[in-house]
Amino acid sequence: MNSRRNVLKSLITLPFVGGLFSKNELLAAETRHILSNIKKDYFKELGIRTFINAAGTYTSMTGSLMAQEVVEAINYGSHEYVNLDELHDKVGQRIAQLLNCEAATVSSGCFGAMSIAMAGVMCGKDPQKVKQLPNTEGLRNEVILQESHSIGYSQALTNVGAKLVKVKTAQELENAISEKTAMLWFLNANTENGDIKWEEFVRLGKKHNIPTFIDCAADVPPVENLFKFTEMGFDMVAFSGGKGLRGPQSAGLLLGKKTYIEAARLHTPPRGETIGRGMKVNKEEVLGMLAALELYLAKDHKAEWQMWETQIDLISNAAKSVEGVETIIHVPPHANHVPSLKIRWDENKVKISPNQLREILRNGSPSIETVGNNREVGITTWMMVPGQETIVAEKIQSILKEHAV
Ligand SMILES: *Cc1c(COP(=O)(O)O)cnc(C)c1O
Repeated sequence: MNSRRNVLKSLITLPFVGGLFSKNELLAAETRHILSNIKKDYFKELGIRTFINAAGTYTSMTGSLMAQEVVEAINYGSHEYVNLDELHDKVGQRIAQLLNCEAATVSSGCFGAMSIAMAGVMCGKDPQKVKQLPNTEGLRNEVILQESHSIGYSQALTNVGAKLVKVKTAQELENAISEKTAMLWFLNANTENGDIKWEEFVRLGKKHNIPTFIDCAADVPPVENLFKFTEMGFDMVAFSGGKGLRGPQSAGLLLGKKTYIEAARLHTPPRGETIGRGMKVNKEEVLGMLAALELYLAKDHKAEWQMWETQIDLISNAAKSVEGVETIIHVPPHANHVPSLKIRWDENKVKISPNQLREILRNGSPSIETVGNNREVGITTWMMVPGQETIVAEKIQSILKEHAV
């Protein structure tokens, strides 16, 4: 039996536990219990710094932490052989059912989802075409996107041989469509920056019979986004597995129309002569991704949001208690849509720069990672282990105080 669960259960079923421990404290106790049961401390042995993630979901910081249920699914998967295609088929069907869309597959991250989807729309289901990538001779190989949506991640599209065609307006988009156009690509994070919004984008795709794709990598929460864009009519929707969903860092979800999901799958293992052969998702992570999704859908999202707000308030109040410090609490409209904090101060009153403060946090014990620049320190709490917000609040307050004149 799972001893952690028993410990937690016994804590939870204690008579007036609600009065004794907050939910955060329970979760922190849970983590301490997991850590105290570790047999081999790899990070310590290797001399690798671990840290409190007060920054957010960053690949460089290894994304998110998986829940025990996800780790259990991964562990479960490691004990038996299955047929990889059958596993992908059945897990894909299950995900499509859960998310109320036509089809789905577990991809190697959101980036991998983009690459195999792009390869899929360029080649259709023609095995000869599948083999020829990244040579796109004779294929529809252009993907149209808004200039303001062009960020580094569109490399996932060009990696498989596609050519980016950048436009600003709906009119420009329509003019850019030709017999070479394979896909229209939308970056949800930059929705506000572009002229063309979701519905119009979908409408243009349908009008010209070109499949539309939306990159929603960092777009849960809100949970509704898992349903919203397939329902709106986007032909393909991709999410990162290792961000808000807290699944395996190297997994992701590709949702959408059956024909495009099937075409994308033709570029993935076990098929060898494909551009996507290296974008393998092992059986353990396929299961881990499914477990993470199920867990996410069952979660009390309102309670979690309130927890984040309370955590952010705590850190904000601790920082603000120092003379000359001001804080801004905000929620980005798209991507990383969670309570977030900016801490700024008058450097005549607190004699340290934001980057210096971040460096002290990083070098402290425990080490704390934040985001920011020379104007402000940025904090989110959603990737922390609940309970760590207290440490972060105290640390920031004490460093600011120390440098106050
Ligand atoms: C993180 C991110 C990706 C890449 O996602 P992975 O799951 O790490 O492959 C792609 N697009 C955007 C907008 C992202 O934020």
